[in-house]
This record gives sequence, structure tokens and C-alpha cells, in this order.
Amino acid sequence: MQTIGFIGLGNMGGPMAANLVRAGYLVKAFDLSADALAQAEAASCVVAMSASEAAQDADVIISMLPAGKHVNSLYVTGQTPLFDVAKKGALIIDCSTIEADMARSISALAIERGIDFIDAPVSGGVGGAQAGTLSFIVGASEAQFEKAKPVLESMGKNIFHAGEHGAGQIAKACNNMLLAILMAGTCEALNMGMKNGLDPKVLSEIMKQSSGNNWALQVYNPVPGVMDNVPSSNDYQGGFQVDLMFKDLGLAMELSQSSASATPMGSAAKGLFNLHKSHGNGALDFSSVIRLYS
Ligand code: NAD
Repeated sequence: MQTIGFIGLGNMGGPMAANLVRAGYLVKAFDLSADALAQAEAASCVVAMSASEAAQDADVIISMLPAGKHVNSLYVTGQTPLFDVAKKGALIIDCSTIEADMARSISALAIERGIDFIDAPVSGGVGGAQAGTLSFIVGASEAQFEKAKPVLESMGKNIFHAGEHGAGQIAKACNNMLLAILMAGTCEALNMGMKNGLDPKVLSEIMKQSSGNNWALQVYNPVPGVMDNVPSSNDYQGGFQVDLMFKDLGLAMELSQSSASATPMGSAAKGLFNLHKSHGNGALDFSSVIRLYS
């Protein structure tokens, strides 16, 4: 049985680790949060007392952390960097959404140490993580991609090879910039309809069957009560935090600047999420941005 060390058991990492257990892997799991550890234990993960304990002797190490600084600290600059702990030949899959440049530089350091480090950010939200239907967007060599695929298939449905190291993060930044624009546009349209007397359920169904159809309308409606089991119907708890979407829009804007790509819509979306965050909504799910309109 392959052993997987899993670090970061939050909204996404928790259900991803649980799916690896279901697929038959021995998962040694670690998070800074005691609640997250208790949930992992309930999902039959072996709870580790530190990241290095989870990573020791693991064939595969997976991280699902908030941002680049956490990933860099975990593997390279922290007190016990996992690059000092990982066994030779171990495959490290970082599923967090981080800077493409950072993913590239960490993988270059890994190569010097005889370790494989690849970027594999995900799309599909908490629902996709729970259902095991995530999309993985991988930046890796061909050989590393083939090595990672069976593990990723235990947590996801679509496993894409975007290109070499860092390419997964570039594709992910493009996707999330588009997601922010689509969510903001969906909120804008629904709010206008409701202010003009329409029932949001009826309007959502109309747009879903028409040319305005998009992912937010299909599986992540931002208006409370339109859909069951989405963050908007749970007071915007769980899901994908405004703070994380704001971080991702920052990553997209860095790419836009470094490549001189025009992103006026992405820039407007970043302004909108920044305003929403500045009102104290950073910990809410990102679909709560509809509150800015009402
Ligand atoms: P989260 O805040 O729910 O989870 C992050 C977890 O990491 C927390 O439990 C935290 O305690 C833990 N953590 C932080 N530093 C740690 C450390 N040094 N050691 C161990 N644990 C540590 O975030 P999330 O929503 O699960 O997102 C994780 C990543 O996935 C982010 O990069 C995010 O951008 C990306 N992502 C999230 C979604 C989503 O819908 N939530 C979708 C796609 C991608």
C-alpha cells in the first residue's frame, strides 16, 4: 500500500484526503487546526503531530495550503523543511494555488535534492473535492505527470497536463480570473432582476437555459435559497473564501503585468472583491460578493 503524507486539511484538503483513504491509500495527515485533524481522523486518516511526521517515509506528499508563502515555508524555508525530510524518489504534489514563479523555483530546488515537486492546482470547489470530481491542472515533466496521475485520479475526474513546472498555476490563474468575472456578472444580473420584481429561482433557471449560462448558475448560485447545499444557502460559510479569491486575482494581475496582457475585466473584478473584503467579508464564501450589490 502506498503511503501519502497530506498537509492542509481545510475546506478542500479535508475531503481530498478522505477520498484517498477510500481509494485504499494509507494517509498520514497534518493540519495546524485541531478541528481539521479531528475530521481527518473521523475519515480514517492517520493523524500526524507535525508536517514532518506526516511526510516521513511517504511515497507521495500532497499539500493543500492557502498561499505561496505557506508552501515555500513548508518545503524550503521553515524550521523543518520537508525537502530535508522527504525520502529520495518521493513525489511531492502541491495542489495549492500559488505564484507560477514560486512553483518553478521550488521545483528547481527539488530537482537538486533528487525529489519530484509538481504543481497541481485544482478547480471544482468544495463540492468537487467531496465528490472526487475535481479538475487537476498539472505543471510537470511528462514522466512526473504519469507518476502523479493514478493518485490524482482518486480525487478528481479531469487530470490535465498544462505543460512544464508552473504551467498548472498559470492555467489556474486564467481560470479563476474568469470565475471571478463570471460570479460578479451573475450577481449583477440576478440583483437587477430581483430589484425589478423577478423571482431569483425563475430568473436563474431562465439564464441557465439561455446564453447567460455559466458555472455559478449551474452549481454555485449566489442568492440564498435558490440552491441547496451551496455556501449562499449556508450564510456563505465554507466554500471558497473571499480572501482566497482576492489572492488568486492578485496572482492573475501579476501575470497580466509580467506578460503585458490586457485584463480590464479581471482588474475590475479584483477591485470589487477588494472592496467586499475591506468590509470585513474576507472569511465568507466568494459568492457573498452579491451583498455588495444589494
Ligand atoms: P482553507 O483555509 O479552508 O484550508 C487551508 C488549511 O491549511 C487550513 O486548515 C489551515 O489550518 C491549514 N494550514 C495553513 N498553514 C499550514 C501549515 N503550515 N501546516 C499545516 N496546515 C496548515 O483553504 P481551502 O479553501 O481548502 O483552500 C486551499 C487551497 O486551495 C488554496 O490555495 C485555494 O486557493 C485553493 N482552492 C480552493 C478552492 C475552494 O473552493 N475552497 C477551490 C480551488 C482551489
